Amino acid sequence: MAHEVKTQPCPECGGLMRYEKHDDVLEYQGHKRTIKTLGWWCTKCGEAILTGDPLVRHERAFLQLKAEVDGVLGPKEVARVREGLGLSQRTAGELLGGGPRGFQKYESGKQAVSTAMSHLLRLLAKDPSRLGDLAYSAEQLNEIYDKTEGYCACCGKKLAFTNHGLGGGTNAKGRWEVAHRRAGSKGGGDRLPNLWALCVECNRDMSTADATRVVHREGKTPVRGSPFLGRSRSDRDSPGSGTPVTRRAASR
Ligand SMILES: [Zn+2]
Ligand SMILES: [Zn+2]
Repeated sequence: MAHEVKTQPCPECGGLMRYEKHDDVLEYQGHKRTIKTLGWWCTKCGEAILTGDPLVRHERAFLQLKAEVDGVLGPKEVARVREGLGLSQRTAGELLGGGPRGFQKYESGKQAVSTAMSHLLRLLAKDPSRLGDLAYSAEQLNEIYDKTEGYCACCGKKLAFTNHGLGGGTNAKGRWEVAHRRAGSKGGGDRLPNLWALCVECNRDMSTADATRVVHREGKTPVRGSPFLGRSRSDRDSPGSGTPVTRRAASR
């Protein structure tokens, strides 16, 4: 043999453990799946000691199997749906449940998603526009919309209030979304001063949800002092300016 295999005594049975890539049989409710996992494997009792990356992969693979058996979304699907919704792990946890670290756990395979969360994610994956219904109350949306008098805070395009959250699957005029001026990771929060209305195109362009950066990158007028802030009502309501602005009741 060209290289020596590292060995150590097994803490369980005292037998010989080898550090090697070994068949790793995952089992959940009678369903089995075998992967190859690098770690310390006992030649006598089958005990394994896993650390680091191999341990993470082992946990994720087990959760994937469990998810398939239970009929819920696995770590990979959770990540795919979340990314498709344009949410960071943190925002997803705050908005949909699970807390700020929840999605990190789901996607790394540390924690399985509940059936309820799985259903919610599946529904949102089918119709991402409904995300807007969860995020903000009608009253908050009114306030955010009014901050820039119904224009995109980035490019100044007219927005249609009732077309909030109509992300994909439609070409309705004036579609808009709520954006964080400063991303959560940079100290921005979900408080009103940090929230702005952006047209769907500007918001998509801004994958990291940092409006300030996009505004500067594109060389457009920053939000404050932007010409569209001062436009008169007659401008905004002129014929052909797009979809009529119909306010939703602030509360009922
Ligand atoms: Zn052993
Ligand atoms: Zn825009």
